Amino acid sequence: MIISANFKTYKNRKETKDYLMKLEENISKSSQQIIIFPPITSLRESTENIIVGTQNCYPVQNGAFTGEIGLSQLDEFHIKTILIGHSERRTVLNENQIDISSKFDFFSKEDFKIIYCIGETLETRQKGETELFKFLESQFIGINLEYKNIIIAYEPIWAIGTGITPTPEEINSTLKWIKYFTKRDVIYGGSVKTSNIEDILSLEYCDGVLVGSASLNVDDFSEMIQIADNLETTK
Ligand code: PEP
Repeated sequence: MIISANFKTYKNRKETKDYLMKLEENISKSSQQIIIFPPITSLRESTENIIVGTQNCYPVQNGAFTGEIGLSQLDEFHIKTILIGHSERRTVLNENQIDISSKFDFFSKEDFKIIYCIGETLETRQKGETELFKFLESQFIGINLEYKNIIIAYEPIWAIGTGITPTPEEINSTLKWIKYFTKRDVIYGGSVKTSNIEDILSLEYCDGVLVGSASLNVDDFSEMIQIADNLETTK
């Protein structure tokens, strides 16, 4: 399974380094695919069992793009994994589907592993599944789903950082639709924590999770990986 962590704008370089060392120690025997997305200033090389990815990158090698980083800066750490389409970038940073699909296009041509995030507002969810699926489909406009190295992260906006999650049936049904639509691995994100990860990972169509707040504590995140390991044998 894919167990990934988005640190958002938390943790400095030392905190990230210490976290990765501790995590590597805790999970060295895990069979999960573990991916960590630290803030840009804390980017570093992947470790033996942990892939380090970037939360963002401007789709250029380098150039006059003040405040951004490009491929050259990622190359220094051999980073080949990126998060694209996160709801905070769509809503807070105003990235639209054209920006997102150009980013996707650029990084897929560079052979990156792409965690591509989609998710709806509560208002859309309340309109029912037909409207929900129509909305999610619109977040695939311009995205080449033939590209193999992509994982879809389904993250309902109303579940991110709120402590509220959809019901397991709702999550499973949406993951199923996404899986049929994309034919790719699908993970869930939105208030995943040690107390609910087992139920989420047990869902038939769930290939893993993307964890925000609850990943910031290395012991909690290690426990989540351990739960995934325990489940693997039964799933
Ligand atoms: C996220 O930001 O991708 C996320 C899932 O956050 P949280 O786990 O805090 O809801």
